[in-house]
Amino acid sequence: MANTEQCIFCRIVAGEIPAEVVRETERTLAFRDVAPQAPVHVLVIPKEHRDGLDGLVADGTETAGLLLQECAAVAAQEGVTETGYRVVVNNGAEAGQAVDHCHLHVLAGRRLTDTLG
Ligand code: IMP
Repeated sequence: MANTEQCIFCRIVAGEIPAEVVRETERTLAFRDVAPQAPVHVLVIPKEHRDGLDGLVADGTETAGLLLQECAAVAAQEGVTETGYRVVVNNGAEAGQAVDHCHLHVLAGRRLTDTLG
């Protein structure tokens, strides 16, 4: 478990670092990525710190389900449900996870032709 005082996403949840929040629920927060890779690039996170997907699902599937539900809600809010969107989770160093607070990327607004690796 990371030191949540140092965790950049925990600090966003705490309001200590500004973020462009697009949706918020009791347990989740969705905000725009600071370095967007697509016209729509939103990160959906659990407010309670978990390092990655494994820590998240160790709690059971409820929060994981809520996060997926929020990804779909973000897509609807951004108007990309019909055109399509991609949800990505980078888990661990080799997968390219740079921020050790579990997050789901919602990407849309351009044709996502990149392969999965
Ligand atoms: P990862 O590579 O899956 O860990 O993705 C981390 C993402 O967090 C990257 O796309 C970064 O651009 C994004 N990011 C890092 N710091 C911030 C921030 O302060 N606000 C919003 N997005 C951030």
